[in-house]
Amino acid sequence: MKLDIDKQHIWHPYSSATQPSPVFGVESAKGVHLTLDSGQQLIDGMSSWWCMLHGYNHPVLNQAIVDQTQKVAHVMFGGLTHKPAIDLTEKLITLTPAPLQHVFYADSGSVSVEVALKMSIQYWQAKGLAKKRHILSHARGYHGDTFGAMSVCDPVTGMHHLFSDLLMPQHFADAPQCGFDEAWDDTYCDNIRRHLSEHHDTLAAIIIEPIVQAAGGMRFYSPHYLKALRQLCDEFDVLLIIDEIATNFGRTGKLFGSNHADISPDIMCLGKALTGGYMTLAATLCTTDVAQNICAGEAKALMHGPTFMANPLACAVANASINLLLASPWQQWVSAIETQLKEELAECALWEHVEDVRVLGAIGVVELKKPVELDNIQPKFVEQGVWIRPFGKLVYIMPPFIISPDELSQLTHGMKQVLKEL
Ligand SMILES: *Cc1c(COP(=O)(O)O)cnc(C)c1O
Repeated sequence: MKLDIDKQHIWHPYSSATQPSPVFGVESAKGVHLTLDSGQQLIDGMSSWWCMLHGYNHPVLNQAIVDQTQKVAHVMFGGLTHKPAIDLTEKLITLTPAPLQHVFYADSGSVSVEVALKMSIQYWQAKGLAKKRHILSHARGYHGDTFGAMSVCDPVTGMHHLFSDLLMPQHFADAPQCGFDEAWDDTYCDNIRRHLSEHHDTLAAIIIEPIVQAAGGMRFYSPHYLKALRQLCDEFDVLLIIDEIATNFGRTGKLFGSNHADISPDIMCLGKALTGGYMTLAATLCTTDVAQNICAGEAKALMHGPTFMANPLACAVANASINLLLASPWQQWVSAIETQLKEELAECALWEHVEDVRVLGAIGVVELKKPVELDNIQPKFVEQGVWIRPFGKLVYIMPPFIISPDELSQLTHGMKQVLKEL
């Protein structure tokens, strides 16, 4: 592999073009294994950033793409439609809470968040309340890297100071404080209630990741907080946007993160695992109330339309992935992964340099007291035969659901070998 071309010319995520970090060439992948161009095999602990539920190179998902390629690989969505999009829509409408009835397809999670923000702003505009155009987000939230999405990311980890006067000014509540299993107390809502009571006149929506704040800190919080948010949004006339992009399709042990709280948002973003990790596709769903109001407004339409909207290949593989998931005992798999992660990561909590260990569903997190040096730690994981990519103080794994108990033990063993010696 011409890694020198990569080094000289390719930007990698959050990386320097002039002082690039080393990258590893992937030759192929199958099941939970990545094969590097050196021939070395790694167990993937990242599911390629939350996406790869069924593992790599899955015959059923491969076939879905081949079959669709022979019909139509892409076609514009303006004025045309196709079976993969219709089938996927039927599934999403059935699987998500009943009030969500309208689906907008986008080509990435960030774009689906842009669309959600736009929906909420157009909604209030149409109702003659154009002042309601700001968003209330949470500290430690992460919602994507485009400008609208960035404006609702945690102001510190989201690097707001770099773009300060260019970002839409938004409001930020404290990160949810009540842990996932912790006893609930209504005072946990004091902070968000204060923001709402002070600013509801100018607020279009609240946006939050359900149960797990992922890229902003891998924090797990109580379903009661989500329940309370739903009530507060109703009380103060503010829409609720649930960003399920990291949590959707089983990762937390429920099909959707918000299922833990049994609530229905006004707008929901789906992405990442939607296609089983095969292609980029996201969706923004909304209620009949939201859709009807937007379409009664001045524009008479939702003003968005990506070129690759509802790409047939992506929709086809999403259909195949959802069918595979629903036909599998995925709840048992995730719960077995959770039990094993709890057992095997427990000892890390006793180590001097570890701040906290937490597990929820198929997510295991070891939070260190100090940030890791990525360029230093990354090759050590590879030496151990595992693919783990920490950020800051957070070393975490979220393996494909099909990982065997043996492979999971190898993964946690490799992780602990490296962490032990820090
Ligand atoms: C990854 C992520 C996004 C952004 O999705 P992209 O496909 O990377 O644009 C948005 N929200 C959440 C919660 C995410 O985890």
